[in-house]
Amino acid sequence: MPNVPFVDLAAQYAAIGQEVLTAITAVLEDRTFILGPHVNAFEKNFAAFCGAEHCVGVGNGTDALYIALKSLGFGPGDEALVPANTFIATAEAVGLCGGRPVFVDVEEAGFHMNLDDARAKITDRTRVIIPVHLYGQPMDLDAVDCLAKEFELKIVQDCAQTHGATIGGKSLVSFGDVCCYSFFPGKNLGAYGDAGAIVTNNETLAKRCRMFANHGRQGKYDHEFEGTNSRMDGLQGAVLDVKLKYLKKWTELRQANARVYDDLLAGIPSITTPAVLPGRDHVYHLYVIRCANRDGLQTFLKERGVATGVHYPIALPNLTAYAHLGHAAKDFPVARRLAGEILSLPMYPELLRQDIEYVAAQVRNFLKQV
Ligand SMILES: *Cc1c(COP(=O)(O)O)cnc(C)c1O
Repeated sequence: MPNVPFVDLAAQYAAIGQEVLTAITAVLEDRTFILGPHVNAFEKNFAAFCGAEHCVGVGNGTDALYIALKSLGFGPGDEALVPANTFIATAEAVGLCGGRPVFVDVEEAGFHMNLDDARAKITDRTRVIIPVHLYGQPMDLDAVDCLAKEFELKIVQDCAQTHGATIGGKSLVSFGDVCCYSFFPGKNLGAYGDAGAIVTNNETLAKRCRMFANHGRQGKYDHEFEGTNSRMDGLQGAVLDVKLKYLKKWTELRQANARVYDDLLAGIPSITTPAVLPGRDHVYHLYVIRCANRDGLQTFLKERGVATGVHYPIALPNLTAYAHLGHAAKDFPVARRLAGEILSLPMYPELLRQDIEYVAAQVRNFLKQV
């Protein structure tokens, strides 16, 4: 029986292992374990890749959001608009600042925050909107920008799943205040451990984020305010700088794989393949289909050697972590329905056409037998 993993980091390592080992050895030899020249080089190259002026390497993607929010002055009593369907880190960063995540239902089409619902939930405490470009597809940033201007909100983008994506041919950082990235190993650009980055065109904000991530200092003991310790490791900077050179190629392979899935799954009545919205460049961190009998399909695929995921099985407002906000599942009807239907199929650059054909054939077999 074929075995199709959900992601295959071994295949990637096989292709670039020698280059990565050389980069790691350089860090061991110059012992620049925290920040330093390898991180600086990566920051410069990632900023250029994003079409941005500044990049600040930090410890992980959650901290990137937290540090960006803090550095924009977001704090206790403030509210931030957060989509109901995302990874918990988006909302956690708000809580870490002492603020309150205000959950917003999502849209069917792209799984993004519904801006009509967002508008309805704006209060005089709302300071920030956090668009999450879920699964690798940017949300409509022109519309976010309009809403943010009308209510004087800061825009903090969660780009953890969207490395290199564009909208209307424009880079994401050309919208809003700041973009936050995660380099968790399984992301489109993944480190060999935790890492993250803050990307912005605002020099003052970049400087403040850099200081906040390093105990509120610029030099050694000249602390100007209390910050935190969230610096990128030299080893991660070195690994990421090697991998960054391949990211464009890897993204093209993901997109080509998505086209193969699209073709092979087209026209199956009980399956919805992911829509690409107008002007959007989808980088397919995940390839997420919808199926009414999702749990049945997931089990069927597992029994046939196909690993899948659900991103995410419980809408954030319905998690125990947010029970104190007193939400009911019916408050987020779209997020709730999607949570029961979404299934992430195997997706990575090295995925073979024959594997996609096998996965698609099993999806058809499942639907034939029910
Ligand atoms: C991965 C992820 C994060 C958090 O990143 P970490 O590096 O794991 O802290 C935040 N938001 C979204 C949408 C993510 O997918």
